[in-house]
Amino acid sequence: MKYIDPHIHCVSRTTDDYQYMSRCGVVAVSEPAFWAGFDRSTASSFADYFRHLTDVEPKRAARYGIDHYCWLCINAKEAENVALARDVIKLIPPLLNHPRVLGVGEIGLNKNTRNEITVFEEQVDLAARYDQLILIHTPHLEDKHKGTSIITSILKNDKRIRPERVLIDHCEEHTIRLARDNGFWAGLTIYPVTKVTPQRGADILEQFGPHMICVNSASDWGESGPTNLTDTCLEYLRRGHSEAEALDIFYNNSCRFFGQGPKWRLREIH
Ligand SMILES: [Zn+2]
Repeated sequence: MKYIDPHIHCVSRTTDDYQYMSRCGVVAVSEPAFWAGFDRSTASSFADYFRHLTDVEPKRAARYGIDHYCWLCINAKEAENVALARDVIKLIPPLLNHPRVLGVGEIGLNKNTRNEITVFEEQVDLAARYDQLILIHTPHLEDKHKGTSIITSILKNDKRIRPERVLIDHCEEHTIRLARDNGFWAGLTIYPVTKVTPQRGADILEQFGPHMICVNSASDWGESGPTNLTDTCLEYLRRGHSEAEALDIFYNNSCRFFGQGPKWRLREIH
């Protein structure tokens, strides 16, 4: 079966991960801009990071037959320094026409601070002015529900934002309705132990239905990895769902969301 990993941080992964994905049938990935495992001190570090995402990583992925796309932003974990964040935001508009850039993301909140909200609002404005798709990071653990509600309220109050062009990621059982009931896409990020595991991911797909859900592995600097995406699909199949149903979730849903922009080249398979 073919897969798409719609949220994966390839810059933090080894070539073994690319080989694993290639063997498992992952044919395309989308990589949001995020934290680099440490706080960067200058905007020029982000300029290099954006070049890594737009030029270096697509070539690395292509060696394993994987089509690599990306998103640009300053993430919430580094948004506390508003002056630095504004310098980084200025770097983004000239890159939005790059053929590998799908939109603005992953923007959102981490600890729900005033500065994070300011930087989030300024990047929502950027996305609206340039008519970009948006990918949202919601806080992990105890701040998740509050952060997700703040994010969805800001997005709903901006009449320029069409909710079907926004993916709210890292949803769990208590936040998935906040996303989908307001017309947004929901992302499920699967981790090995903490947060949503493959079994819990399959539970959520069964409980809430697969409509407008993109399942991903994040595969970031923490304990995570691309096996979590394929394990979730195997768990879903093990429960008696057909391969066509799984393909619709693990491949077609990403094509439906990303295909709203002009650059995504893969089409739904039926
Ligand atoms: Zn991420």
